[in-house]
Amino acid sequence: MTITRRHAMAATAAAATSALSYNLCMPTAYAAGDSDFVIKGPPVKDQPIQKLSPHVYMVEAPDGFPTPENQGLMSNVVFVVGQDGVVVVDTGASVQIAEMAIRQLRSITKTPVVAILNTHYHGDHWLGNQGFVEAYGVNVPIYSHAGTRKAIEGFTGTSWRDSMLKWTNAATSGTRIVPPGKDVDHGFTLALGDATLRLHHYGTAHTPFDIAIEIPEDNVMCVGDIMMDRRIANMEDGSYQGTLDAIDKLIANSKTSIWVPAHGDAGVKVLEWQRSLFRGIYESCVKAVKQGVPLEDALAIVLQDPRVSFKAAETKGWDKNIGKYVSIAYLEAEQAQF
Ligand SMILES: [Zn+2]
Repeated sequence: MTITRRHAMAATAAAATSALSYNLCMPTAYAAGDSDFVIKGPPVKDQPIQKLSPHVYMVEAPDGFPTPENQGLMSNVVFVVGQDGVVVVDTGASVQIAEMAIRQLRSITKTPVVAILNTHYHGDHWLGNQGFVEAYGVNVPIYSHAGTRKAIEGFTGTSWRDSMLKWTNAATSGTRIVPPGKDVDHGFTLALGDATLRLHHYGTAHTPFDIAIEIPEDNVMCVGDIMMDRRIANMEDGSYQGTLDAIDKLIANSKTSIWVPAHGDAGVKVLEWQRSLFRGIYESCVKAVKQGVPLEDALAIVLQDPRVSFKAAETKGWDKNIGKYVSIAYLEAEQAQF
């Protein structure tokens, strides 16, 4: 027998299932869409569903980064519950996380999910699409920006699925890529009777294709990863200035009072937390570039800024990521100079 990648994954998943969890929940053989089988990873422990406003609910991820222990539960799943149906904004990092979020949703309403929205192409925001399609039908539309869809359909999609398996020691095994099928852009709206979803897109912020979703009846804005609460973002495909500009436009073009990030708590405070951190980092880098300070000395300058340094202790992923984070900001500042 040739060892295929799929076989290897299944073996890892089987090895990762401890005797205890095996007894508590027998892993099921899972048809992966072809003649092969993979072992489906175990269920994810229930997280409480929070009511954020009259129509908006959230299942919050306690952690900021994926581990074998949290099974990839690292980003929030948000539900907009209207008279005519429920829309899910970002579906989590695995089929198991989606199934857990659906259990929570069903504890508060019998209304079915009628649409799915993926804010951008990072896997913790869409790898759970499969769970919702399996629960509510393959005809449930999945909306995203066209660029997000193309990334998920391509190498980015498989790379995220495989990375999530590795980071969680195969706890997300059984998760299939279900890409978005409907392209949407700035200004698109979805009506749910007593609640509306209005989409905002302002160019490159966290990625080139972020969508923020406003629920105007509730003064709520789901921002995906354009803003985060006490967590460092992956800014490899993003822009600091672009994020600051997008934030300005989200403020100018809505009456938002509750900002709902995909990482951390929702509320009024998210805005200032994110904006002051990014201003502190980016403005310090612009200053460093203007003064001819080399890249390797930029981190020290950034860390002198109180808007940055005061956040170190409370921010998930700080020590591992702040150096890289500042390099990206410095390179952007350098490019903006020329
Ligand atoms: Zn992201």
